[in-house]
Amino acid sequence: MKLNTVRKTLYKLYSEKLAQFRRIRDKSTGWFIYYWWHEFDLLEEILLEKKNLLQQKLRDRLEYEEKNYFFECEDCEENQIKYTFEEAFELNFRCPECGGELKALDNEETKNFLKERIISNKKISFSIDEQE
Ligand SMILES: [Zn+2]
Repeated sequence: MKLNTVRKTLYKLYSEKLAQFRRIRDKSTGWFIYYWWHEFDLLEEILLEKKNLLQQKLRDRLEYEEKNYFFECEDCEENQIKYTFEEAFELNFRCPECGGELKALDNEETKNFLKERIISNKKISFSIDEQE
């Protein structure tokens, strides 16, 4: 393994609280020696926390998609902006870029995508005991 790969991996594990280290100065060379050990006992807990966070984000986004109507300008093909009903209403349903009509957007696909992600996220299991 390359030294740089080892270093990067250790820092990554450390930043995710999965590794710890102790630093000691070598008296003869004056260099630091690092002793590393893993903290994988926390792995399940950390992964579960990440899973729950993602679940919450997906649910919030789905709720936002379900609670709002979205509008966009069909004439502005490049960098299409999604407007909420309130924004479109304020704009009199006119595109501020080209003056074209803002039309209701079907976000069914987005909602379905989010629902699928929520279900697949729910199914993820990190516990070794739960697996067959
Ligand atoms: Zn436009």
